[in-house]
Amino acid sequence: QSPLLVVDTLSVQFRLKTGQDLQALSDISFNLQAGETLGIVGESGCGKSTLARAILQLVTSTQGEIRWQGKPLNAHDKAGMKIFRRAVQCIFQDPLDALNPRMTVGDILQEPMQALRPELGKAAIRQRADELLQAVGLESGMRNRYPHEFSGGQCQRIGIARALGVEPQMILCDEPVSALDVSIQGQVVKLLADLQRERNLTLLFISHDLSVVRELSHRVLVLYLGRIMEIAAAESLYTNPLHPYTRMLLAAIPLPDPKLERERLAKVKVGAGELPSPLNLPSGCVFHTRCPQAQAVCREQIPALREVDGRQVACHFALQG
Ligand code: SF4
Ligand code: MG
Repeated sequence: QSPLLVVDTLSVQFRLKTGQDLQALSDISFNLQAGETLGIVGESGCGKSTLARAILQLVTSTQGEIRWQGKPLNAHDKAGMKIFRRAVQCIFQDPLDALNPRMTVGDILQEPMQALRPELGKAAIRQRADELLQAVGLESGMRNRYPHEFSGGQCQRIGIARALGVEPQMILCDEPVSALDVSIQGQVVKLLADLQRERNLTLLFISHDLSVVRELSHRVLVLYLGRIMEIAAAESLYTNPLHPYTRMLLAAIPLPDPKLERERLAKVKVGAGELPSPLNLPSGCVFHTRCPQAQAVCREQIPALREVDGRQVACHFALQG
């Protein structure tokens, strides 16, 4: 089966107002099969949102291309982009921010269907909006209420229902639960996981938190300073991370047991270091300034993303984990 989405040697560079160049993404290649959930993880400022925006053709790449169903995407091809915009819907971090405060929930859900699926007709669109409210665990009676009357978790459910309306093939979720209470995060993640299975959706799920994507990702891609560090099946990534940065992210997940959590914090303090500025990327392996295993070669040579144990890892010493 050929992939639904291919990102092929993509690089994005921004010229800042100060005249400096910011290398936001370097040499990113991965693909996504239909019906697959790929988690994209890394600290803030590592290029995750830029990658999402590049896929949506909202930022121009300096190198490489993105293919959708085998065809290169091109922001200038209006007809092609219209099909793509219907096939790919988005869910963002701040659910209330993404909903028009002056529209009722019913209208919010109907709007994308009216714009992208007018052939359905008014009555069917209205009925579908009610069904979608139920599909995300809300009541159809809520259609006449306004976004501010809902909690953050409910607003994100409305955002999910809106995204589903046009029957997308893929949903791009950029930190969809990061603004929610921890107690609510799990519920929304579970809803997305259930909808993914029921509707055979393809999900690209971005988070700075590895623990959030664990439940629903089939594979996980770890991004650091605009480069891929590791791509692996979720199970093997969590049980046997091969890249030192993946191990650092896993070590950063708080533990529920207070005693284990104290021990964890004591360890994390040792040499975790600051994220370098993307304006002044480290030479060689971009992770070398924080890597506990760094050797002299790491400062000089960029490690290629290569196959190790059925996954892809960019580390000169990945086998010595
Ligand atoms: Fe660490 Fe070197 Fe591997 Fe980079 S290449 S992750 S610095 S060991
Ligand atoms: Mg972001």
